[in-house]
Amino acid sequence: MKAAVITGPGQVELRQEPYPIPGEDQLLVDVAACGVCTFERRLFSGDKPWYPVAPGHEVAGVVAAAGAGVNGLPGSPQAGDRVTLDLMTRCMTCGPCRRGRTALCRYRQGRTLSDGTFSMGGLTESIAIDAKSAYPVGEAAMAHAAMGEPIACCVHSLRRGGFAPGDRVAIIGGGFMGRLHMALTRIGGAASTGIIDPSTERRTDAARAGADWVAAPEDAVRVGGRQDVVFVAAMGGVDIAVELADAGGTVVLYSSFDPELEIRIGAHRVHRDEVSIVGVYNQEPEDWKETSTILRSGLITTDLDRLITSRYPLSRIGDALSLVVSEPTYRVFVEPDRG
Ligand SMILES: [Zn+2]
Ligand SMILES: [Zn+2]
Repeated sequence: MKAAVITGPGQVELRQEPYPIPGEDQLLVDVAACGVCTFERRLFSGDKPWYPVAPGHEVAGVVAAAGAGVNGLPGSPQAGDRVTLDLMTRCMTCGPCRRGRTALCRYRQGRTLSDGTFSMGGLTESIAIDAKSAYPVGEAAMAHAAMGEPIACCVHSLRRGGFAPGDRVAIIGGGFMGRLHMALTRIGGAASTGIIDPSTERRTDAARAGADWVAAPEDAVRVGGRQDVVFVAAMGGVDIAVELADAGGTVVLYSSFDPELEIRIGAHRVHRDEVSIVGVYNQEPEDWKETSTILRSGLITTDLDRLITSRYPLSRIGDALSLVVSEPTYRVFVEPDRG
């Protein structure tokens, strides 16, 4: 079978790899769709010069076979089931894992190809994975199921941010992650959800997709007013988020940030107004469980459809990566060429 490997800036190749053989407690999953995320974009653009690497961590597929230990096990996905995959190693041995904070697992993440090349595991044709890391998605479209990982990250973000029905929500950043936050807060019963983005196009798009209000960063406070939860799903805008937070509000730092960036907030405001700053990273099994339920429910199908920018067969992986590097996209999907 084939696996994509990024070998340098603007360079990707398909390597021939042996078909994986599932272990006793594993499933063999035929990959149907894999999303191209920021990680892949940064590798291909040369922003993250870390080569060679086999990318892809937003994966969905169909179970082709179940190992003897999980074959017929009630509750475990079985042959023919559509699944979304959690590719994180959760060692249950390191400090954070022992506290149940497996999103922060310190154990080595990832896998390896047959020659030892580091692999995220997803941009390939088939994958052997622990059955406990595969979550059923019912009849969900495979591109939607491939958004399982980013959705789980956002579910984690809402949970850690203490989001509750009736909350006023602002999201800084109208890109893919911001829009997933919007879809989830809407079905979660937000009183209102606003999107803040410097791009007119992204604001128009968000308004069309159901945002209660949209604003450019400089107008955010005037247009949106005080908020209960502010998600920062862009690489900047933290100061605006802090300003937007009402008494009792929470600012959730979802995006990745420049390591030098500091947050300015007065100790008095944290004390007297109980404003919280919460960081979020990755996801945990309970987030996946909720994600699998959301995908099965079909509640955000329309939202997810709007976020599919394009799809490419695995044989055109170079074109998929070039598109993501050259222009703003929501999500681009790669699908193994079968049949
Ligand atoms: Zn991702
Ligand atoms: Zn761990």
